[in-house]
Amino acid sequence: MTSIPLVNLRRQYAEIRPVMREAVEKVLENQMFIQGLPVAAFAEAFRAALGANHAIGCSNGTSAIEVVLRAYGIGPGDEVVTVSHTFFATVEAILNVGATPVMVDVDAATHTMLPAAAEAAVTPRTRAIMPVHLYGMPCDLDGLRAVAQKHGLLLLEDAAQAHLARYKGRTIGSDSDVATFSFYPGKNLGAYGDAGAIVCKDAVIADRITRLIDHGRSGKYTHDMVGSNQRMDALQGAVLAAKLPFLAGWNARRKAVVARYNTKLEPTGFASQAAPAGVESAHHLYVIQVQNRDETLAALNAAGIGAGIHYPVPIHQQEAMFPLLPKPLALPVTERLARHIISLPLCGAITDDEVDRVIAAFLKVARPVTH
Ligand SMILES: *Cc1c(COP(=O)(O)O)cnc(C)c1O
Repeated sequence: MTSIPLVNLRRQYAEIRPVMREAVEKVLENQMFIQGLPVAAFAEAFRAALGANHAIGCSNGTSAIEVVLRAYGIGPGDEVVTVSHTFFATVEAILNVGATPVMVDVDAATHTMLPAAAEAAVTPRTRAIMPVHLYGMPCDLDGLRAVAQKHGLLLLEDAAQAHLARYKGRTIGSDSDVATFSFYPGKNLGAYGDAGAIVCKDAVIADRITRLIDHGRSGKYTHDMVGSNQRMDALQGAVLAAKLPFLAGWNARRKAVVARYNTKLEPTGFASQAAPAGVESAHHLYVIQVQNRDETLAALNAAGIGAGIHYPVPIHQQEAMFPLLPKPLALPVTERLARHIISLPLCGAITDDEVDRVIAAFLKVARPVTH
């Protein structure tokens, strides 16, 4: 039996090889490797695909968050409300600009930030709320927007996993103050290296971000602000532009795979991430809760099935965070999820036969959560 990886990038490449080779070849012939036309063309195509006002390509999804916080002048003394049930970069970006992350618990069914939890964490120092559309599932944006507006806060959406996800009929990013994306190779839209993007409504913020990611340039050798180097490579721009036309189809395939998993697994008592009404996930990960998680993971891995955990250690329990937290945090839902969640293989290239093999192997060992 051949193994089934969590994400089958080799098969994706086999399906689009000529297109990708041509895109890369063009950049090699041009010998212009930083930003330039390929990155501008991709940013415009991504903006149009989302229906957003502005899109700026950058070096990765972590730097995308950092540059947004800098563009809004968020730094030392400021608090940003976010979640602990996420990838480390969400919180790391807040720390890297000198601001203080305030982590709140998530909803047990959707695994995402609740407006009430966000509001309860607001203090006079709060400047922004940063929810994460985790596993591609849009958060309660109406609720979070209301909290942000009421307290005069920025709502910054970490959409690193939510390419083309929809909330009440609108693509994530099209109605956002600011949303950040990652094109890490394993994401729904993946580069051949590191890359990211910022999508925003406001032209002044877009212009500031454009300059911050390129040394605060006003001309070739003139700088009117201190920025950094967070630019996107031309090769990544070309790769992403060539892949973008396939994204909606890959997401549709992900959706069908998730339906296949749910049809077979939910009647047997297993709980996967709940989708609130009016929300269309990008289905970045298929995450399901099991009682005997470590045993299930070991059995699947031994059978050549690339199951994983996203994420096994909540951010507030990471060693790096201990000196930074004034007192130990208790986030019971987050901690409970971290003990029970397992991610099963999911991507645009997985076959029905492979999904059925994963389901059979899973049902052989996994037990639904009982306590
Ligand atoms: C991937 C990811 C990031 C970071 O993106 P990089 O491109 O890897 O820097 C941030 N937040 C979340 C939720 C992610 O999944």
